[in-house]
Amino acid sequence: MNIVDSLSVSRGLCACGVCGYEALQPHMTEAQRRGLARRIAHPRTVIVALFPYLAPCAPGNLSLYARGRDYHAVATAHLEAAAQALRAAHPDCSFLVLADDSPLPEVYAAACAGLGCIGENGLLIHPVYGSYVFIGTIVTDLALPAQAHAPASCLSCGACRRACPVGLDKSLCLSALTQQGGILTEEQAALVRAHPLIWGCDTCQLVCPMNRGAAQTTEPAFLQGQICSLSLADLDGLTRRQFTQKYPDRAFTWRGPAPLRRNLMLKQGDTP
Ligand code: SF4
Ligand code: SF4
Repeated sequence: MNIVDSLSVSRGLCACGVCGYEALQPHMTEAQRRGLARRIAHPRTVIVALFPYLAPCAPGNLSLYARGRDYHAVATAHLEAAAQALRAAHPDCSFLVLADDSPLPEVYAAACAGLGCIGENGLLIHPVYGSYVFIGTIVTDLALPAQAHAPASCLSCGACRRACPVGLDKSLCLSALTQQGGILTEEQAALVRAHPLIWGCDTCQLVCPMNRGAAQTTEPAFLQGQICSLSLADLDGLTRRQFTQKYPDRAFTWRGPAPLRRNLMLKQGDTP
């Protein structure tokens, strides 16, 4: 079984590479290593796949990654299909799909697998798709010829640091902050109020010169049925259950309507 074929690279759905698990271990905590060992006994090789998501853009208040169908479900479906084919070809081996909440250092793994360089903003930058990619992996105890790529860095132009509202401070990153539940501190609330989006943040990607001319996705799940914006009217009166029924397959669904509602209220100057 050709790993590349199994992941439909030829149809432009993703880019794919392989790295040895050994190379990743120094970048994992003891808890992460133990957590992975509980799910697969002898991890030896990591197959890394990138799923490009850039689609034709309309103005909106949701991050570009969150406008199509939930990438976790899309990537998992592709990876599970590939894993099934691999299991059939190697019945004595285990194949674990990880597309959500992975204990692996995914960006580093993708760079080790030769899929791109690591940007100062911490994102993987693929030469064709830029940083507009989701990363998924299949961990296996099968020995595969792994590439030995030393992770390269980006152009180091500093544009992302200059454009970032928090100077690339991970503890205040708007991508996480807009998704955070509960009450925000004054500082956090001020950042969300001044931010153009209510879910996620694209700023450091939009200014990155390595993203200029990034190829668009061919994945129908990311191209069709896009939701670019949400308003308070869209969320009006929805319980969490009703919200999930209305938006069953979106990357923002898991958090329920509360953070989105709070962020929208902050942006119109109201106290949530
Ligand atoms: S996602 Fe936004 S807040 Fe986070 S590092 Fe990039 S520009 Fe800064
Ligand atoms: S904006 Fe410049 S420094 Fe930042 S990730 Fe892109 S190339 Fe690297």
